[in-house]
Amino acid sequence: MAADRHQAGLKILEKLTTDAYQIQEQVLEDILNRNAGTEYLRGFLNGQCDKQHFKKNVPIVTYDDIEPYIHRIANGESSDILLAEPVTGFYRSTGTSGGQPKLIPSTAEKDKGALFQTLMGSVMNKHFGDLDKAGKSMQLLFTKPEIETPSGLLATTATTSIFKDSGFRNIVSMRYTSPIETIFCSDINQSMYCQLLVGLIQRDKVVSVGSIFASAMVRAIKFIEDHWEELCYNIKTGHLSSWISDSGCKNALSLIMKPNPDLADSIENICGCKSWEGIIRKLWPKAKYIGAVATGVMSQYTAALDFYSGGLPLVSSAYVCSEAMCGINLEPLSKPADVSYTFLSNMAYFEFLPVKKDCLTMFLDQVQFNSVARQESKEMMSSIEAIEPVDLVNVEPGQCYELVVTTSAGLYRYKVGDILMATGFYNNAPQFQFVERQNVILSIDAEKTSEVDLLRAVTKAKALLDPLGFLLTGYTSYADTSSTPGHYILFWELKMKESNDMKEPDPKIMVECCFSMEESLNYTYRMYRKENIIAPLELRVVKQGTFDALMDYYVSQGASMSQYKGPSCIKSKQAIKILDSRVMGKFFSVETQF
Ligand code: AMP
Repeated sequence: MAADRHQAGLKILEKLTTDAYQIQEQVLEDILNRNAGTEYLRGFLNGQCDKQHFKKNVPIVTYDDIEPYIHRIANGESSDILLAEPVTGFYRSTGTSGGQPKLIPSTAEKDKGALFQTLMGSVMNKHFGDLDKAGKSMQLLFTKPEIETPSGLLATTATTSIFKDSGFRNIVSMRYTSPIETIFCSDINQSMYCQLLVGLIQRDKVVSVGSIFASAMVRAIKFIEDHWEELCYNIKTGHLSSWISDSGCKNALSLIMKPNPDLADSIENICGCKSWEGIIRKLWPKAKYIGAVATGVMSQYTAALDFYSGGLPLVSSAYVCSEAMCGINLEPLSKPADVSYTFLSNMAYFEFLPVKKDCLTMFLDQVQFNSVARQESKEMMSSIEAIEPVDLVNVEPGQCYELVVTTSAGLYRYKVGDILMATGFYNNAPQFQFVERQNVILSIDAEKTSEVDLLRAVTKAKALLDPLGFLLTGYTSYADTSSTPGHYILFWELKMKESNDMKEPDPKIMVECCFSMEESLNYTYRMYRKENIIAPLELRVVKQGTFDALMDYYVSQGASMSQYKGPSCIKSKQAIKILDSRVMGKFFSVETQF
């Protein structure tokens, strides 16, 4: 049965990739036929619904452009102002607009999600065999409570809505170690504790471990480091700790727990070791892989997971956003840095805006930094924006693009905000590496540092600490403009590879790390530093557990634990306070000879 399903999945994949052009044309035709009469599209199309009219007249937009329509629907107007099909709710994406999560309309349509899951399952089955038959997956999954909009429509994260669906509820006990009650527990610490406890109790059945994004997996390991003695005590006695007060968790665990001193002893022996290198493989010896997206901004967690994994492959299986499900990774065994996602032609109508990123960086690096150059770079930016988008099948390998989607749920030529690089084709469907979330996160004066610029700088600087046995387990940043000139502050959480006791890092090396980061930042940054328009970069080393506290704070403020990506930059005063109250040492760059 399962084998037939997976074979059928692979066949569908062949068709979707071979007929990518025809399917994309059909997807657009269907969307336009259904929605050309909506208030939004009428204004641009005047009743014409062919592709030429669409391309010529419908503007490429960002969330801010369509937000008024979304708010009108959320406030009770009929959804046909934007799309013909009724809006049944909203997804709250991790992308924000004015500090608020974006609301992406969703409809009753479930087929695409189900098909996407089936195709991913078929690819995994091809590489790892029938794991459903072999055992269970310890997937750490979290949900967020729904929020009611004034119209009565509910807004929740895309992952929560998947877990709420009966399709997921029907398979959860068969496929996953976590009982549904633990996934729906609103207290993330109780949820994490219980999911890890059942994952450890069933460790001999666990054939894969993971979370949606790599950040939650790293958090889970740190959580075990803090709680393993208590977890073992619960396993030994068969009694759940009294601080677990959630009735759903208590009931679910009461059906699973019974005293098991032998199991507790084995886990105690593993966790009691000085080094936690390879701990995942030791705790779950039958696991074949760690499933967690580790591309894009999540690549900061690969070093930690490589250390803990004991050589298990780290699989980033899909590229999905609240706006659309986009692509799957056909080579799950490839290293995170080499992962490409093959776009599925039936999920949305995809367009790609060429981005001459390298060209722009080179340009800014080469020109003398003066007002003429600034003007030229601005003009160059606007000429980049004037470039026409290309269709899915027409992208060119090696070229970077900004993703633009048109969906059946009311997004028309909508910029998702991600930059992707085309790497090749599978049949006629292009494959893309995730490059970056297109957002400037740090800025002082005209200097602009993107998420990927910062990640590159941190990666280079932390290499200085590798030989000394330190692991960087979390970082974030903010632009401090409270004094003039302003400066960038980086927060780093470190841990020793071989022990849980933290050694003071050598101040000389930390100062070198500061300089190394500055050296890696862009031309404008370095220029501004020389001219003292930006003051020396500051590195604040925080105590262990600080980034868990930060995650707790964001989750308490409405972020989803499952979709949490760890901010590369923070603006919230409260979040900065949490970090500042845990600083162990401050270091500044002293050089400007780049
Ligand atoms: P959300 O809107 O909360 O669902 O988050 C979607 C965003 O997460 C995307 O726009 C990407 O920026 C990021 N993302 C999703 N999947 C991946 C992936 N496989 N690799 C890197 N980033 C991803």
